[in-house]
Amino acid sequence: MRAPSVTVGVGAGVKGSTHLLTGVAIGLVVARSRGLALPAAVGPVAVAGLAALVPDWLQVNLPALNQTVRGVFGHRGFTHWLLTAGMVYLACQRVYPPVALFALAGWLSHLLLDALNPPGVPALWPLPWRVKLATLKHDGLANHALSWVAGVAILWGLAPYLGG
Ligand SMILES: [Zn+2]
Repeated sequence: MRAPSVTVGVGAGVKGSTHLLTGVAIGLVVARSRGLALPAAVGPVAVAGLAALVPDWLQVNLPALNQTVRGVFGHRGFTHWLLTAGMVYLACQRVYPPVALFALAGWLSHLLLDALNPPGVPALWPLPWRVKLATLKHDGLANHALSWVAGVAILWGLAPYLGG
């Protein structure tokens, strides 16, 4: 029997690099929309990128509970709830408000991407339904396409900063 654990790493699903790129891209979109200048934008955009990774980094595995309380523990558990995203936002609002929206945007981008492949996400917890928006394969063409779209969005987001 496996011991309870907190896993650090990415399970089956969307690649970590795709999550990171998308989080940074969304962060840049938010930074541009708020008119943040370059030095001030770096930290919040990094927070968005980090927030896009954390849901897969922080997964509490309690083997006895993974199946019985599906959607809470194990892969795509409570870190994949909208409720958790909201709590992260509120926590950031209390600790350091300027990054709260970026953390929320990065976190939501993670849930959105995960909802594009077959296992879906228990985003609506405590409601029992898993949100599945598509059935893309995590290692398929669509995943690479998403990375490219995120890459282009990053270039678009960086353009005004690079141009001075
Ligand atoms: Zn995930």
